[in-house]
Amino acid sequence: MEFLVLLGPPGAGKGTLSRLLERRTGFLPVSTGEVIRHEMADETSDFGRRAKPYMDRGVYVPDELALTLFFSILKKFSSGAKVALDGFPRTIPQAEVFLDWVKQEGHVFHGCVHLDLSVAQAVERMKLRRICSVCRTPYHLVNRPPSVPEICDECGGALMMREDDDPERVASRLERFHEQTRPLIKWFADQQRCIHLDGGNDPAESVATLMASWALI
Ligand SMILES: [Zn+2]
Repeated sequence: MEFLVLLGPPGAGKGTLSRLLERRTGFLPVSTGEVIRHEMADETSDFGRRAKPYMDRGVYVPDELALTLFFSILKKFSSGAKVALDGFPRTIPQAEVFLDWVKQEGHVFHGCVHLDLSVAQAVERMKLRRICSVCRTPYHLVNRPPSVPEICDECGGALMMREDDDPERVASRLERFHEQTRPLIKWFADQQRCIHLDGGNDPAESVATLMASWALI
């Protein structure tokens, strides 16, 4: 399998970037946050039950739980799949296990994409962010509005605000990001495995930069 890892504060545009990347290169976006929300909605899910107390408090799930989730998600993919990870790894211990596993299994890790955006810009963007309640396609009321107001272009579903985009949770997610994910970005960068991109740039340009840097086809 081939992997790349997307890191950036909430609101930086990882969802939009990964959808564009999928169209151009076939890298399948996997948002572990989306998977966790889905599992939590399923009352029979053991994982959902274990993750809920952390998600409710707005903190990351423990490394062990994140790793369990990651390896269970992987079972759905073929051995030749190309995957863009959003939300995993989130901490250095998770990244160490991930990279050891990649090496052991002979997979390819292209590197980490750090999509950066200032806190003020991230907060502003999230206020205008919407997501399809059915297929989860992301929209932005100014930068990427749907053709018909409040309706998804892809599937006709109703648009809504993402569950964790309310101002209180946004503040807590930004804080979490700065405390816990910044060290991980530095860790990847120290190994020369990180590309820094400005989340304020045109996503098509960012995708072109990635494709050229890592020879993604
Ligand atoms: Zn939709």
